Amino acid sequence: MLCDVGKCRSQKSNNSLGLPLQRRMKTLVVFDFDHTIVDDNSDTWVLRSAPEQTLPDWLKKSYQKGLWTEYMARVLTYIGEQSVRPEHMRAVMESIPFTDGMLELLTFISENKKDIDCIIISDSNSVFIDWVLHASGVKSAVDDVFTNPASIDARGYMSVRCFHAHDCQQCPVNMCKRRVLQDFREKQAKADVHYERICYIGDGGNDFCPVRELKEGDIAMPRKGFTLEKLLRKAISEDSDALHAKIMPWTSGNEILRELTALIE
Ligand SMILES: [Mg+2]
Ligand SMILES: [Zn+2]
Repeated sequence: MLCDVGKCRSQKSNNSLGLPLQRRMKTLVVFDFDHTIVDDNSDTWVLRSAPEQTLPDWLKKSYQKGLWTEYMARVLTYIGEQSVRPEHMRAVMESIPFTDGMLELLTFISENKKDIDCIIISDSNSVFIDWVLHASGVKSAVDDVFTNPASIDARGYMSVRCFHAHDCQQCPVNMCKRRVLQDFREKQAKADVHYERICYIGDGGNDFCPVRELKEGDIAMPRKGFTLEKLLRKAISEDSDALHAKIMPWTSGNEILRELTALIE
């Protein structure tokens, strides 16, 4: 049988021995959330639901470097104590703007799930991300969300805990995104899911650790003008072999959409 190799591989067909041909491997798209999918920081956006949309000085001053999630736990308790209802907080969170082109990109991913798996690895929390994705109508694009677990108790107070403990010296105590990505890939490999490539889309300092571990064929997609792009430029200027992945800075999700379209064609 003569056929286009790419097309043949993408179909789940049988050869003459009746053995299943290998399916085409998927692309894994990894998103950061704050300043990547949404064009702001969800942890500071929530202050818009607080009385006078600000925090008292004693609370602001209680932040200790590297302990952001612990600080957010205090912020959320404070907001609860001000009798802010979860429904109000939710409406405020749903008004956070999406980054240009991201809704189009997520819609494209949701329409191409046979070729693309998609996860979010974020230092925000599970409740905020769930609210925002749900309201946007693009939740079906996302297969899994790895973030600090949050919940709302019977009083209507929201609480948040650290995602995991890890031994990476480069990352904040609650989350090493490299570890999260490694664990995810190991879990997938056990289920015999292997990826042709990874596209990592992010903006922040905590996206640098996972991006450094990307392999040849993968694509690092740092948001133009943000910390991750600067860290990558610095790493490459110090050692031109520091990174194995191709680097594609972006301004709009539409640029990523075009790249992804070409990749899976
Ligand atoms: Mg970010
Ligand atoms: Zn790390």
